[in-house]
Amino acid sequence: MHAHQKTIKHSLQIRGKGLHTGEMIDVTLRPMPIDSGIWFKRTDVSDPSPILASSANVSDTNLATTIGWRRQRLSTLEHLLAALGGLGVNNIMVEVNGPEAPILDGSSAPWVELLNCAGFQILNAPRPFYRVAKPFKLIDGDKFLAVEPASEFSVDFTIDFPGFLKTQKRHFKFSESAFVSEISPARTFCLLKDVEYMKSHGKALGGGLDNAVVIGDEGVLNPEGLRFPDECARHKILDLIGDLSLAQAPILGHFTAHKSGHALNQRVLASLLSLPGYLEKSDHIAEPQRSTRNFEISLGALNPLTLAPEGEPLAYAN
Ligand SMILES: [Zn+2]
Repeated sequence: MHAHQKTIKHSLQIRGKGLHTGEMIDVTLRPMPIDSGIWFKRTDVSDPSPILASSANVSDTNLATTIGWRRQRLSTLEHLLAALGGLGVNNIMVEVNGPEAPILDGSSAPWVELLNCAGFQILNAPRPFYRVAKPFKLIDGDKFLAVEPASEFSVDFTIDFPGFLKTQKRHFKFSESAFVSEISPARTFCLLKDVEYMKSHGKALGGGLDNAVVIGDEGVLNPEGLRFPDECARHKILDLIGDLSLAQAPILGHFTAHKSGHALNQRVLASLLSLPGYLEKSDHIAEPQRSTRNFEISLGALNPLTLAPEGEPLAYAN
């Protein structure tokens, strides 16, 4: 594996509605240099310490993937993380002025488009990766997520819902172009009865037919219909790619998922990272911050503006 590290060429801003709060949220993406990792920073809080997008910083997996550090929480990151993972962007600062990333159209496609607008900067350092060394499987009731050694990242995902959705299976073998065309446009989906329940509990206040596939007893309620017949299975693969990006490096292995979701995805990832012998690690994987003091030291060193003038490349690949 000879991929290079990547960041974006230019800073860029986007504004969109939060799924759970219904509030308008601004996001700014900024380039970061080699070995930085993916960072999130809430700019609406009094202590805007950046949070490393790592498995160790996952604080909640109910409905969305949330990362936290001290008293800060930032949610609904998985579709942006999937876009970053799918496009191989491993060094970036994401500033958000609210408690969640905007939902946009419910897929990763708008994030892919935004990142393409920002342009990419290939950095002169090898991209770290993990290789699965031995099989691992976690079973939770009727769900499971398993991984086995393979030379590249691939997934077989099965979803199984009563009613309209039924059983859907999708195979995906990773390449950037396959991610962009087959996976990134697949929108999040929910059952109408779950939307009504969430709204009655103050959740999904920004949710609607413009940012989710909503499924009633008779079928899809969205007037435009589905983007793919198996859009829901594709979206589950998108979520898995986003969740696994919190490993901070691609995992080369074949995943088999049955009804898995954010919670099981994160449990498997945390197990793979913490149990000895399952993952072989290459170099250059950023450590999660353990204290503010350490972080302040590293942040000064990581500030791209101190390393390169605006618009100038941080480094070139050979
Ligand atoms: Zn999702």
